Amino acid sequence: MSAQNAVVENVPKGVYVGGQWREASGGASFAVEDPGTGKRLCDVADGQAEDAKEALAAAVAAQQEWAATPPRERGEILRRAWQLMTERVEDLAMLMTLEMGKSLAESKAEVTYAAEFFRWFSEEAVRIEGRYAQNPAGGSRLLTMKQPVGPCLLITPWNFPLAMGTRKIGPAIAAGCTMIVKPAQLTPLSMLQLTDLLAEAGLPPGVLNVVPSSSAGKTVGPLMSDPRLRKVSFTGSTPVGQALMAQAAENLLRVSMELGGNAPFLVFSDADLDAAVDGAVVAKMRNNGESCVAANRFHVAANVAEEFARKLADRLGSMTLGHGAEEGTQVGPLIDGDQRDKVAELVDDAVAKGAKVATGGSAVDGDGYFFAPTVLTDVPKKARILREEVFGPVAPVTTFGSEEEALALANGTEFGLVAYVFTQDLGRALRVAEGLETGMVGLNTGLVSNAAAPFGGVKASGFGREGGVEGIEEYLSTKYVAVSMS
Ligand code: NAP
Repeated sequence: MSAQNAVVENVPKGVYVGGQWREASGGASFAVEDPGTGKRLCDVADGQAEDAKEALAAAVAAQQEWAATPPRERGEILRRAWQLMTERVEDLAMLMTLEMGKSLAESKAEVTYAAEFFRWFSEEAVRIEGRYAQNPAGGSRLLTMKQPVGPCLLITPWNFPLAMGTRKIGPAIAAGCTMIVKPAQLTPLSMLQLTDLLAEAGLPPGVLNVVPSSSAGKTVGPLMSDPRLRKVSFTGSTPVGQALMAQAAENLLRVSMELGGNAPFLVFSDADLDAAVDGAVVAKMRNNGESCVAANRFHVAANVAEEFARKLADRLGSMTLGHGAEEGTQVGPLIDGDQRDKVAELVDDAVAKGAKVATGGSAVDGDGYFFAPTVLTDVPKKARILREEVFGPVAPVTTFGSEEEALALANGTEFGLVAYVFTQDLGRALRVAEGLETGMVGLNTGLVSNAAAPFGGVKASGFGREGGVEGIEEYLSTKYVAVSMS
């Protein structure tokens, strides 16, 4: 058996409820595909509403005891899970590449990034603190304590199959919450493998329950209205996030929303242009461009735009496309045919409206869902690609005159996840960083993701923060006790 077949073979393929793997109710299953070949990899249990309800029952049953487990114990489980992920990075990366498409180097980087959330939150588990204060009026005391929110529903997207899960599971475990995870239909295998790894690290039955499904709404919908569920944390598209918010309102659930992005990448005339091109390659091409923090549009000072676009086109045009598991591949396939068609549609729309293709510009024929790394110049304001999330390896370049215009262009979107700014002028850097309507800013860097930093957006990109000292707060409630001294 090849190494690739072996990693797929080893994945548990059921629903995971109360510490047991089992078939989905009715025995249903769905196929998982390799986007690099368009061929089926394996079948996975297709969790139904009944399975989700049983998963919630298991999470509810485990909640009290889990909340009472010493924080150090919860932290050490996370630490062991970090260790196991680190030891098994090669196999986890291969599995991720097979189901999601990105190159092995990128998958390894994601496994490491995902594992970091476990290490970070293993350290946060033992720092959950309260306050003790005198009543300003005297006489009594004010005591506050932080307690786990309770059973959580965690819903993750396909683009980062492990990291989008660990940055929810890590703080939930650290805080003492139990959970039901619904991984993306297109990439459930990494999460199923991680589930086994967490059990091996000592996570007690019922704390983590996992329900893969091909009909997300029908499967998790009933949980959203169940009063025993206390929180939903969602990463995915803005329309689905809005629908879940509406459902959460009925049940007054705590909500964290990590939604879509439309990141501007600003290059000022005083920028170090080579550093800006390096940053652009990372911000655009990480994850094949299928990232919520991918640079979506490049606004460049008019007097350096031509040079920037030429250098960026040289870099993107020389990247090696291929199956993610092949040696030397830098850019893998897009996740499926729909995604490739959408990217092609946005490029065609821009070109029809007057944009010029500096490199790439079309899908690549053959097996798998490949799209050539693309740079577009002279992109007109009315092009859809400047307003919509591309989720592919396409860099549209436009120009600006003044700092005010750059800021107005950057903020002219309903989204507000991240923005990238390249300038060597400290005053400008701080002015622009303050003026950007985003949750995050990359200042002279194309990479913001870091388990120790608060990741999240504003406006239609959602709210709530994952990672950093803020991350665990999403899973804690504050209780206040008024203490009489008499
Ligand atoms: P999506 O279609 O919104 O799906 C995300 C998850 O929600 C999947 O597990 C999906 O299940 C599930 N889902 C879909 N409809 C649902 C419903 N009615 N009820 C409950 N769950 C439902 O998003 P995607 O295409 O997977 O991911 C891409 C989007 O995620 C992009 O917009 C990207 O910007 C965003 N994203 C944001 C962040 C961030 O941190 N802000 C990070 C990564 C990605 P199925 O797989 O079965 O459809």
